[in-house]
Amino acid sequence: MEGRYAQLVQRLNEVQDISGAVGILAWDQRTKMPEGGSGARADQLSTLVRLSFERFTADEIGVLLDELRDWGESLDYDSDEASLLRITRRDYEKARRVPLDLRAEMARTAAIAEPVWREARRKSDFELFRPYLERAVELKKQYIECFQPVDEPYDALLDDYEPGMKTAEVRAVFDELKAGLVPLVAEIAERADAVDDSSLTGEFPLAGQEKLEGEILRAFGFLESEWRLDETVHPFASRGGPHDVRLTTNHHADNLTSLFACMHEFGHGLYEFQVDHALYRTPLGRGASLGVHESQSRMWENMIGRSRPFWEHYFDTARNAFPGRFDGLDAEGFYRAANRVRPSLIRIHADECTYNLHIILRFELEQDLVSGRLAPADAREAWDAKVEEYLGIDVPDVADGVLQDMHWSGGSIGYFPTYALGNVISGQLWERIRRELPDLDEQTRAGEFGALREWLRENVHRHGRKYMPGELLERVVGGGLDPQPLLAYLREKFGAIYGL
Ligand code: ZN
Repeated sequence: MEGRYAQLVQRLNEVQDISGAVGILAWDQRTKMPEGGSGARADQLSTLVRLSFERFTADEIGVLLDELRDWGESLDYDSDEASLLRITRRDYEKARRVPLDLRAEMARTAAIAEPVWREARRKSDFELFRPYLERAVELKKQYIECFQPVDEPYDALLDDYEPGMKTAEVRAVFDELKAGLVPLVAEIAERADAVDDSSLTGEFPLAGQEKLEGEILRAFGFLESEWRLDETVHPFASRGGPHDVRLTTNHHADNLTSLFACMHEFGHGLYEFQVDHALYRTPLGRGASLGVHESQSRMWENMIGRSRPFWEHYFDTARNAFPGRFDGLDAEGFYRAANRVRPSLIRIHADECTYNLHIILRFELEQDLVSGRLAPADAREAWDAKVEEYLGIDVPDVADGVLQDMHWSGGSIGYFPTYALGNVISGQLWERIRRELPDLDEQTRAGEFGALREWLRENVHRHGRKYMPGELLERVVGGGLDPQPLLAYLREKFGAIYGL
């Protein structure tokens, strides 16, 4: 059987090499490519994506998986081989369920809808976008049909991003999160003046930003020989190979958002970097799910990068990077400014406390759209009502409401919950980490992150995709999704900052 297994791995290696090339072409497209390259790049990407899909869903892969089934089940569950067979079979069966025609139609519709969404947003014209939203929802319903029977329609969409997770479970977790967050945010909003963040806006010369980011990223674990940082519009992280991590950021001359984007993307990059190299070139050689991935980026951005001990160490570095800029401010003042909470309209600018409410409202609307309880034509009103209910603010312009994100134009329905799931998971991991690394604050205050990096490698990163996200969580924290650690962390942190 070992010979057949080696044949399967060899085929999977080829699929992963093609996907890796797609990743580098996409990275280039978003960082270096002149605009004129977009037509040729679209052709190259669609050919490679098709090739990797065809190779992965080929009958021969199914034959090998069938032959190896008993052998795989006789092996230790935690072994690389048993895990590879288990996860690959799941991926294979899912990929084979969706007809190529439907996949092509979804890709085509997404490509057409994106420029329309941009125009609709620019003109604040929901009606312009509405037919494309209707089409995206209709195609998603067809996609869901491929996976029947499902407990509820949304399960089929969620599973693409959080394998094995059920809508009912996420709904229960988000309901609990919402019940804790809505009153917390309302209480903070009444004391909005308690935090002044004016020190974080104004002029921040690029050279200073790069100096500060470089120093922090190197302390986190960024190695010049194996990592890159480049400029893009919407920051992301990707990986060209086990010793090739690509982070991106977007500098603005009048604020420090790039610094926090760098820390966020570092968390994604570190996860990929620390996956066991034996899993490279297989379907297991990346993070367990988008939610688990986001738990890593949020941890480095918020739980470390917006923490008091962190700024007790790095405030002097920030002051040196921008001479005279922070006169009259101290580390505590900087820490408070970096943690200002303010209910706002735009998700990507939302603070650590209100962010999850932006996600929960999208999750609720998406379920209603795909189940047919909400017509796309009514999405705007439904959106505005939830913003008022959860965040206590009006939506004066649809461009800052239902039209703000591009996800739905690309048919990415089922993706949003992973952002808040990441926060929930980061809360659970953080609680465990603080127990197991009792001197974490002292280390952070000294600019030392090796113990945290090693804990994450040992408990989360090295496993790659060997376990489903629920299994991984169970192994690390001994239970399922639980929003209470995140709520406790937020209440403690923001309760102290705002004197609640
Ligand atoms: Zn992220």
